[in-house]
Amino acid sequence: MAARILLVEDEPTIGAAVADRLTAHGHEVVRAWDGPGGVAAFEEHRPDLVVLDVMLPGFDGHEVCRRIQAVRPVPVLMLTARDDEADVLVGLAVGADDYLTKPFRMRELVARVSALLRRVDRAAELAASTTPSVRSWDGLRIDTGARRVWVDDAEVHLTPTEFDLLVCLAAAPGDVLSRERLLAEVWGWNDASGTRTVDSHIKGLRAKIGGDRVRTVHGVGYALEVGAPR
Ligand code: CA
Repeated sequence: MAARILLVEDEPTIGAAVADRLTAHGHEVVRAWDGPGGVAAFEEHRPDLVVLDVMLPGFDGHEVCRRIQAVRPVPVLMLTARDDEADVLVGLAVGADDYLTKPFRMRELVARVSALLRRVDRAAELAASTTPSVRSWDGLRIDTGARRVWVDDAEVHLTPTEFDLLVCLAAAPGDVLSRERLLAEVWGWNDASGTRTVDSHIKGLRAKIGGDRVRTVHGVGYALEVGAPR
């Protein structure tokens, strides 16, 4: 599916290679070269997805991500310069959905972009086909059509990934879903190499909806803790 993608990357060689490859796959690519330019381009062009370098002039990719997610939830793929877990955790905490460590293969980038776009499409289809779209348990209310969530009547703002994770868990309240299954259903990945990604996003989800609402089953996965529907 063709999408409008905002690419924020200050390194000319990598930026040109990424833009060329995404364009060759039918996407429209809008470019920005620094933090403030990235936020401005996001507001001007309303992209479907953002590919965001972490190390940028002005302010960094984490700050860009924080600011654009506050405007409108959008899938974000982060590009990190090193395989630094702290960097990745910060990225996920500010609302990135996925990350790639440089150097990466262009094929891998295209695969990740396609997976993120498929998820957004599938979520929209699911929202259109699911009735009723509002469900609630114990003060937790999910509107799958509008993609909104409330805890005790206060709205909480989830990233697209956190929302999809919650909806996936809420499809079978109380049931334990393995990390591999969540990875396959939410991210569209079929290998188990990214199970730590699931843990990080669960951490973000817990921070927003309340830690005791998501139960960890060590070595297996996660379950949404719910009482009787009300
Ligand atoms: Ca950079």
